Amino acid sequence: RDLQDALSRGELELYFQPIFCLKTGAIEQAEALLRWNHPERGMVLPSEFIPLAEQCGLIQEIGEWVIRKVCALAAKWPGSVGVAVNLSPLQFDNSDLGKVVASALEVSGLDPSRLELEITESVLLRDCAVSVSILDELAELGVSIALDDFGTGFSSLSYLQRFKVDRIKIDQSFVRDINTSEGSLKIVRAIVMLGHSLGLNVTAEGVETDDQLAAVRGEGCDAAQGFYIGMPCSLAEFVEQLERVNGSAAPAA
Ligand code: C2E
Ligand code: MG
Ligand code: MG
Repeated sequence: RDLQDALSRGELELYFQPIFCLKTGAIEQAEALLRWNHPERGMVLPSEFIPLAEQCGLIQEIGEWVIRKVCALAAKWPGSVGVAVNLSPLQFDNSDLGKVVASALEVSGLDPSRLELEITESVLLRDCAVSVSILDELAELGVSIALDDFGTGFSSLSYLQRFKVDRIKIDQSFVRDINTSEGSLKIVRAIVMLGHSLGLNVTAEGVETDDQLAAVRGEGCDAAQGFYIGMPCSLAEFVEQLERVNGSAAPAA
């Protein structure tokens, strides 16, 4: 019941976590991460309320709010930094998803090349024909698609051929153990090789230490995200960090 009112009461808030290009050190993207500022419970994390929103049918409304809000905010950021939005597999039940994204881009004026949509492999496991047509529609708009938490789902490699994917995000579980488990290191290495041979960008998620950063850089990851290099933060903090890190390399839009 609380969640139903959260949107209208303005309790949902977007945090942004920087994603760094490992070649230049610049912030190349921000991932939008949803938070719920509950009046009594305080800050509630998405792992708690997104499943609830999916169960009670609120995910369409919340998901659309996120897309529109992120586009409107990112359109005002300096430079050409990109922004990534997480999509629930259930948002693919709505055949209007392409129209929602197109309208959010148009209203905000955000260049489609700056928007990336993060999906998980479960989207591709669902009704393939519907997912394919929605993904085609999104690709036609000029937005990018990232496969999130890669390596933890079914990782059916044929998906990488059948769908227009632009980026793979290596799941944080592999990055966490990269210096302690040879298996994780080899999996990261294999994902980077696979991604690069298909012409995809590869981002390492969950970088928490200097050693992990060195390892994912050494393995050739293109970008990295994690508490060690940048925490999820409020919009104001993110924009401040963007100006500080990217500096004059990011001329005002
Ligand atoms: P995700 O898309 O894989 O997002 C990355 C999660 O890892 C975020 O958790 C982020 O705070 C966390 N993280 C980043 N760096 C590190 C690190 O170095 N170490 C560790 N241990 N964690 C790190 P968060 O914000 O709690 O979000 C959890 C999940 O909730 C996200 O996973 C995503 O699947 C989902 N989510 C977040 N926002 C949205 C949204 O707007 N819509 C939908 N459908 N799902 C969302
Ligand atoms: Mg994500
Ligand atoms: Mg992830």
